[in-house]
Amino acid sequence: MCGIVAYVGKRNSSPILVDGLNGLEYRGYDSSGIMVTNDKELLIYRKKGKVSFLESILDTNFKSNTGIGYTRWATHGIPNDVNAHSHRSADGSLAVVRNGIIENYQELKEVLTEIGYSFKRDTDTEVIAHLIQEMRDAKNISLVEATKEVLKSIIRAYAVVIIDVADPDTLIGSRKSSPLAVGIGDKELFLASDASPIIQYTRSYIFMEDEQVVEAKSDGLYKVSNLDDSVANPTITKLYLKIDELEKGGYPGFMLKEIF
Ligand code: GLU
Repeated sequence: MCGIVAYVGKRNSSPILVDGLNGLEYRGYDSSGIMVTNDKELLIYRKKGKVSFLESILDTNFKSNTGIGYTRWATHGIPNDVNAHSHRSADGSLAVVRNGIIENYQELKEVLTEIGYSFKRDTDTEVIAHLIQEMRDAKNISLVEATKEVLKSIIRAYAVVIIDVADPDTLIGSRKSSPLAVGIGDKELFLASDASPIIQYTRSYIFMEDEQVVEAKSDGLYKVSNLDDSVANPTITKLYLKIDELEKGGYPGFMLKEIF
């Protein structure tokens, strides 16, 4: 199981992401990555092995109010620095992390290759970055519209978070068969695989349903809609569990949780 933790708001995101990734370690992973952005630059760090290896290469002087952290459990492409997430689109205009498996990834890759895209990595996630870029440019639509179109064509499992380099105040997230929660803070928002990496910041959560898409803004405003564009009315859940209760998901130990 991989893990996602993302932040948009007014704080410096890197320490939140590093803490969050440490909080997700219990899920198991082989590599990790952090993508941070401000108005001027987008930096991506990727490292095989422990989160502490990733931490050792971060530029702690770079201040950013938006970022995404990811622990990968490789299914397509070996676990190494190059295949760790996040991944940029071919033109560099957006970056994506995604967990799950795209079963029709080869077909999508062939279509993209035919129209001139090349691939730098072996993961099935790079196709998503290229596809969203292609959809946005070809149809001249917004990033969220392009994301929805692309997600409709994907079989089958994903939790995905996307950032547009030109709009560092917004994160887009969605899920299908892989969990994604929105943590609602005071003028800040978190996206995460579960509440455990962010429970220290907020007790209010939306546990997203399959094929819902969230647009999360740095002022704390958010919109949840469905892939067919209808508006979703998500329920906000208050969580008062302790962190170890969350991590074990109600089971007495991690082994039992994994088995079930
Ligand atoms: N299939 C993707 C990869 O191999 C994501 C794996 C995961 O869920 O971490 O990069």
